[in-house]
Amino acid sequence: MNWKNELQLNDLDPDQVLEFMCKICGNTHLKRAAELQNEISQSFMWLDQVENDEHCKKRGCNGSTLMSVYHKSSTSGFAGGLA
Ligand SMILES: [Zn+2]
Repeated sequence: MNWKNELQLNDLDPDQVLEFMCKICGNTHLKRAAELQNEISQSFMWLDQVENDEHCKKRGCNGSTLMSVYHKSSTSGFAGGLA
């Protein structure tokens, strides 16, 4: 079973951070669940759809991404919009 088909965006804690890694260039970016929940009006969206919707942030790449749950360390808070 794929957890991305089991969970909806709404099921995530708003503070949960997700990591998106580009399948083409390997560039990663992070997003808080709350950010996605605001961005996508359908918060009942399945996570695999969210993954399909999210593309690489690197200029000129726009590759599809692989989503994973990001475990932040206890010492550093989420810095938001890591460039
Ligand atoms: Zn990329």
